[in-house]
Amino acid sequence: MKLTILGCHSATPRTNTNPTSQVLEINNHIFLIDCGEGTQVELRRHKIKFNRIKHIFISHLHGDHCFGLVGLISTFRLLTREADLHIYAPKGLKEVITLQMKLAESWTNYKLIFHELASTTSELIFEDEKVEVYTIPLDHRIYTNGFLFKEKEGERKLDMNAVLNADIDVAYYRKLKQGFDVEDKHGNLVKNEILTKSANPPKSYAFCSDTAYNEAMLPIIKDVDVLYHESTFLDKNEKLAAPTKHSTAKQAASIAKQANANTLILGHYSTRYNDLNLFKEEASEIFENVELAKDGKSFEF
Ligand SMILES: [Zn+2]
Repeated sequence: MKLTILGCHSATPRTNTNPTSQVLEINNHIFLIDCGEGTQVELRRHKIKFNRIKHIFISHLHGDHCFGLVGLISTFRLLTREADLHIYAPKGLKEVITLQMKLAESWTNYKLIFHELASTTSELIFEDEKVEVYTIPLDHRIYTNGFLFKEKEGERKLDMNAVLNADIDVAYYRKLKQGFDVEDKHGNLVKNEILTKSANPPKSYAFCSDTAYNEAMLPIIKDVDVLYHESTFLDKNEKLAAPTKHSTAKQAASIAKQANANTLILGHYSTRYNDLNLFKEEASEIFENVELAKDGKSFEF
């Protein structure tokens, strides 16, 4: 998986920082997660092909997470896109986008498919042969979901030395990868574990922004490889975090620790802070493996 941060700041776009948006490359998909203002400019800057974006996941309807969407949809239309576009978002976004297009008489010539979310329990919203995406209900001022992106268990790998030694017909390779025992050329049954090795462990990524400190998400994100958790504030401003239903760096680290995450990426910083290293220092006191999101930065895992 490769995660590229297009924007990781809260509230308004500024000359050198963008509101929330990220691109997750996973098994040949390019998933766009949130779409704050300026997202399409950042997509161009990072040379991400618009045509390859077929699924967009929107956490909630605050402007710093979705005000870039209608512009992006419109640009796709001007570029004569033909591919379907799926949008997974809280109920209401379809109405907003549809009204904008209606009043502008700018209907898309490609298919726009809204998957409106309203459930307050985690649900599977996307699945193909290799990937699953689940919602992570969050605790924010309005209805909000994070998203858990999970690779499925891959096929077993052939141990070619063992396979050749055991005299296995090529026709059985497929079954071997699927985990079955097979017969050798003399009719003897050979155990799968002698001929194959386990697949690479599937990876997972959880995107959790915006949210108050919320232990309810722990069972959903347990053992996640990478957790992006908002940390709008530092602990010294905890009094601001609670009423706005945001988190501090310390709280994000506590969630990462309890979830047994491998890596924590912090983001969604309030514009009041000039020194972002303070976020890393604060979180590192609780959780070891902390990274700071930065506009334009990529993470591979
Ligand atoms: Zn918000």
